[in-house]
Amino acid sequence: MPCRASPKRPELLNFRLQSIKGARGLCLTEDTASRPAGVFWHSALFSMPLTADVIVIGAGIIGCAVADELSRKGRRVVMLDQRTVAAGATQASAGILAPYIEGHDLTPLLELAARSLTLYDAFVARAREASPAIIDYQRNGTLEIALDAAQSARLRDQEQRIRRAGIACRWLSQAETRDLEPALTEDIDGGFLVETHGSVGASDLSAALVKAATSRGARMLTFAPARRVSRPANTLRVDTDADVFAAPHVVLAAGSWSGQLPVNGIAPIPVRPIRGQLLSLARPTHPIHRVVWGADCYLVPRAAGGILVGATVEDVGFDERATVTGVRDLLDSACELVPGLWGASFERARAGLRPATPDELPIIGLSDRMPGLIYATGHFRNGVLLAPLTAALVAKLVEGDTSDPALRLTRPQRFGEF
Ligand SMILES: Cc1cc2nc3c(=O)[nH]c(=O)nc-3n(C[C@H](O)[C@H](O)[C@H](O)COP(=O)(O)OP(=O)(O)OC[C@H]3O[C@@H](n4cnc5c(N)ncnc54)[C@H](O)[C@@H]3O)c2cc1C
Repeated sequence: MPCRASPKRPELLNFRLQSIKGARGLCLTEDTASRPAGVFWHSALFSMPLTADVIVIGAGIIGCAVADELSRKGRRVVMLDQRTVAAGATQASAGILAPYIEGHDLTPLLELAARSLTLYDAFVARAREASPAIIDYQRNGTLEIALDAAQSARLRDQEQRIRRAGIACRWLSQAETRDLEPALTEDIDGGFLVETHGSVGASDLSAALVKAATSRGARMLTFAPARRVSRPANTLRVDTDADVFAAPHVVLAAGSWSGQLPVNGIAPIPVRPIRGQLLSLARPTHPIHRVVWGADCYLVPRAAGGILVGATVEDVGFDERATVTGVRDLLDSACELVPGLWGASFERARAGLRPATPDELPIIGLSDRMPGLIYATGHFRNGVLLAPLTAALVAKLVEGDTSDPALRLTRPQRFGEF
């Protein structure tokens, strides 16, 4: 039975929460005085779990978006992360919001990604309301570059198919492309502009979403790895090293690590890590104005003036290092596209593990085997883009609504008994 704080004993609540903070290190929800009485109650004092409506495991962009959405709907949310906010794939993400690129063509992934893009303005506006931090969000298009005739033919074909689907896009000649982005090499054949695309700073957005959720009473516990999910009775239980949590719903949003977390009686969900390396360059002598894609890399301009260069795609297990080869290859490709980048400053290299599924579609849906468990993982190369749609779908599932057609594409059961 859920155990709630007695409004008559606020000092006891404060005492217990202070000691939880001490045990776990950073706890972003420090403001116990302003929390509505009775929202959370740690009952280790009585050997009972801490209760909530929803426990979200993982504070990458997906967990953060889900926690924000659920807390907006009045749910009591506890977020757990084994590290800090956005320390997984999200911190390495380029944050490109581009459904109509990267060979998506007219696939189910395109359907999900295009729908999520339509939610993005409102998603960022809500996060900005909650946080004074600057979120770098730009919707001024992406430009895919053809370096030779064969690439031009492929991109022109893509442009026609996408335009027929009603998307604002244009094929540009070599001169038109260089008018738009004068820093580009002269050795190009043309460019494909998709005007509605853009980019966002994924780490800042995640932090703002957590701030929004915690301002509504959600709790964010960092350095608190979930060790096991089980369902001993009619409620779900999550064990961490320090505490036990209980809730009717648990959202598994642990990115590449989602298959590593033991879930009692259920096989590991098939998500595996695909490493990506991303570089940050500063003070380029020749700026670019929008996301630019070449054959071997992409470039993302940041509002503060820097440029991101991405990204490698490497099947190397749980190895989160940036490597000499990765950095060299990305620098060579970037400078081939924009020769002026040889004069930029090298700021840093990051690496992250993209959570990949066997069919490259995300896994969003309820478990049949463990009622109340919701998977929200496997977003591979598009987790930032797919975050608002994922949050909306998870919120529907928590409310008992399974009717959204997108859930047919993303159901975990396409991979077996989950
Ligand atoms: C180089 C690179 C570039 C990318 N570019 C783009 C892009 O331009 N656009 C785009 O849309 N996507 C991009 N992606 C993909 C995107 O970053 C991912 O799809 C997205 O970040 C996945 O988010 P997530 O929250 O599922 O996973 P993560 O960000 O990895 O978060 C998972 C979290 O779960 C935590 N965790 C794991 N196990 C546990 C546990 N047992 N208990 C508690 N916490 C746990 C981890 O610490 C981590 O913080 C890129 C990825 C990379 C690597």
